[in-house]
Amino acid sequence: MTPVRQQRFPSTASPQEIAHRLGRSRRDFLREAAGVAIGSSLMGRRAWAGPAGTARKRKLIVVTFGGGARDQETFAPEGQENIPHMLGELIPQSSFFTQVTNHGILGHYVATASLATGVYETLNNFSAVPPDHPTVFEYFRKDLRRPVSDAWVVAPSNGFNRIGESDSRGYGPGSGARVILPKHLLRAASGAPGPNYDHLLHDNYETPLYAPELGGGEFELQQLERVLKLSVDDFTAHARALSSPDELSVYIARQLMRQESPSLLWITMHDIDIAHAGAYSLYVDAIRRTDRLCAELWQAVQAEPEYAGNTTMLILPDFGRDADEDAGGNGFQHHRTGDPASRTTWMMALGAGVRAGVVYDNPVQSIDLVPSIGAMMGFSAAQAQGRPIKELV
Ligand SMILES: [Zn+2]
Repeated sequence: MTPVRQQRFPSTASPQEIAHRLGRSRRDFLREAAGVAIGSSLMGRRAWAGPAGTARKRKLIVVTFGGGARDQETFAPEGQENIPHMLGELIPQSSFFTQVTNHGILGHYVATASLATGVYETLNNFSAVPPDHPTVFEYFRKDLRRPVSDAWVVAPSNGFNRIGESDSRGYGPGSGARVILPKHLLRAASGAPGPNYDHLLHDNYETPLYAPELGGGEFELQQLERVLKLSVDDFTAHARALSSPDELSVYIARQLMRQESPSLLWITMHDIDIAHAGAYSLYVDAIRRTDRLCAELWQAVQAEPEYAGNTTMLILPDFGRDADEDAGGNGFQHHRTGDPASRTTWMMALGAGVRAGVVYDNPVQSIDLVPSIGAMMGFSAAQAQGRPIKELV
């Protein structure tokens, strides 16, 4: 299979114009391929339908979509074969936003931290430091007085281990989400990494030599047994059968849903970023796997009594990938130019309180995520710089 070249735009077009056209082309594709209607802000939102008192039970799951994929492998005619679950199962139930712009730094940890704070963070992408601004987990727990067990992050690499809480005054240590790192957990559980697990332990794809050493193996094993209710033997035996790190993350997330039932659960997928290795077939395989895993997570929501009927799921990439025609870029492989293709991404919202089968192409930003979650769940994201997305709240 050879990569299809990205749609070309006149070189005189501004970044805003290119972003707008990308959003339009996604919108038009989804109308054809998934039969969704074009939304307008005049439509109004279906009100949260639960009876009084159930707001406390409302759950929200954020899934970041794998490090970003181009449209020609996803939301375009030539890419649709890679996302059958999203197109056939999830999008007909979704409000889909086709123009979500990320104006921040395009590294995975810093961009995910920006998604989680609602501020374009400027921290060093390659150091395990906390975000500078309060995270969605801290706002949620403080305003709604929720226990630590109610907010969890499942993250792909050791570099994400500080994402659960900020350095911010009034928040900080102990006030945010607990972060579970499935690879760190597997390493702790399996002793020395062996050939059985090498395919699951790759820490990140951008700088293969970077993986901060983390202590706390004992704490990880306690999480395994006390929180996830998994024996070391069961966990390692199950992991051996899994094909990728994201499979492992979804397995852990499902255990968390079953045992802890957090109201705010954040899962960062990362397999697609194997694109940095330059192997197009592995990149496409990862898109297909991520598409399937998103559908499996949504099926898990329906199967868990704590979640069925009262859960909203938001799926979005942290950012996109470079366009082919940019002289400094390299198409699907990297995201280093900061061009509109790498900045203009999308978001899918489905479940409780969300209008189904609608596509919106008005511009929103990555930093609008946290204020929108706050408005949906009833807490204030006071320091976030984005705005609630009006079609969701
Ligand atoms: Zn990357």
